[in-house]
Amino acid sequence: MVARKHINVAVVGAGPGGLATAIALSELPYVSVNVYERAPEPREVGAGISIGRNCWNVLELLGAAHGVKGAKKQIPMQRNGRTGELIVPYPTPPPLGDKEAQYESIRTRRTRLQAALLDRVPPDTIHFSKKLVSLTDLGETGVRLQFQDQTEVVADLVVGADGIRSVVRETLFPDHQLQFTGVTAWRVLIPVSSISHITDFPTSTGWWHGLNGYFYFSHVDDESERELCEITVRSFDEPEVTGRTATWAIPSTNERVRSRTGEYDSRLKAVLDVVPEGAWREFAMAAGPCLQEIKGWDKVALIGDASHPLSGAFGSGAAFAMEDAWILARAIEHSITSDTTIKDALEIFQRIRAPYYQRMYDYLDRKSRESRKAQVEHGDFDNIVKARVASFGGTGPDSLEWIYKNDIKQVWEEYVAGEARSRSGLM
Ligand SMILES: Cc1cc2nc3c(=O)[nH]c(=O)nc-3n(C[C@H](O)[C@H](O)[C@H](O)COP(=O)(O)OP(=O)(O)OC[C@H]3O[C@@H](n4cnc5c(N)ncnc54)[C@H](O)[C@@H]3O)c2cc1C
Repeated sequence: MVARKHINVAVVGAGPGGLATAIALSELPYVSVNVYERAPEPREVGAGISIGRNCWNVLELLGAAHGVKGAKKQIPMQRNGRTGELIVPYPTPPPLGDKEAQYESIRTRRTRLQAALLDRVPPDTIHFSKKLVSLTDLGETGVRLQFQDQTEVVADLVVGADGIRSVVRETLFPDHQLQFTGVTAWRVLIPVSSISHITDFPTSTGWWHGLNGYFYFSHVDDESERELCEITVRSFDEPEVTGRTATWAIPSTNERVRSRTGEYDSRLKAVLDVVPEGAWREFAMAAGPCLQEIKGWDKVALIGDASHPLSGAFGSGAAFAMEDAWILARAIEHSITSDTTIKDALEIFQRIRAPYYQRMYDYLDRKSRESRKAQVEHGDFDNIVKARVASFGGTGPDSLEWIYKNDIKQVWEEYVAGEARSRSGLM
């Protein structure tokens, strides 16, 4: 047995991906992990977040599922934003078995997911006010990380979990560019009590579609609490302005949001009217092409939004980030037990996760072509909105079960079984 070298891992970013990496790696022998986060304290921007079956699966593996409660979503409704009419029939949800009920899709506060993960991270692992400014490849010595406060550390492995505008990604792949997508989202949490006077407003989770955007409403607390609810307004047709791609979670005015929602049903306007001035946060959505490599220098991995800058497409990015983290930990564990190297672990990580992201990009490209065609063919508002709703998900090749029901443990077991088969020459 070869004497194992201790692996010193630096994780950049304490979002869902970075926290999940810290949890999963801290359970491994021979590994020490430190997380460097630019914010001065734990914080979570945004409002609510969806937890579907794929997310529950990885939260269970991280030992963090029990801390997450929220509003059960059942089947989210798709409505005509001008009239409130349901665009597709709303079937009565089938009764759920015990296991399905335990892992039912919920919408929750982002802070709850963050607290559940933070609770599982060993003490003194996260270092706040540590904004990474540069990375240097030191060859066999590792990677040097330099922070804005003039401090630096050297690590054997760096995990870039620093989100969509990742410094780690920019360093590895300087030619990879993000572009503003034309889509901007405004998000807010407000007290449920503040909308109780709008008697005919249906408060089930759902999208209210307009011509160039939508209004999304959901509770974020379970029935015993019901304190806050979430509104997102999304506009698909925003003009590019200088520095726009850097506009993320900045305060926005009620007037600005109202100017994007003129066409909506009066009930939605009544909901918008109760939002306190200064509460909205604006997110200009940027995206970049699919990365062929989600690792570099034989000692750097990109995970979460840093690895697939899709700007929240599929509404499951936190799950993707945590799945990346868990698979990376399995790949490193595998390399420890099989006496191989970090480089080999990164190859495994790449082999499992890069094709998964490629499949998402391919899906979105196809759907965007179909949606453009539908816009041309179905000229009036009702049909455009119907075509848009029909253009996401579905059955057969359009089914998104490979995302929303992804069982990351099974993915790993299949990888290991495939590797064993190929070693024994059975493939
Ligand atoms: C409008 C919108 C709605 C969404 N809705 C959902 C949803 O319903 N469900 C869902 O699962 N996902 C949703 N997402 C996507 C989800 O928020 C992200 O995919 C997820 O947060 C990615 O996690 P991450 O850890 O990769 O990155 P992030 O959550 O972005 O975390 C990155 C961390 O790195 C830190 N950081 C950045 N740069 C540096 C640096 N230089 N040095 C040190 N630290 C740094 C940041 O401060 C941050 O804490 C949505 C996204 C948007 C924009």
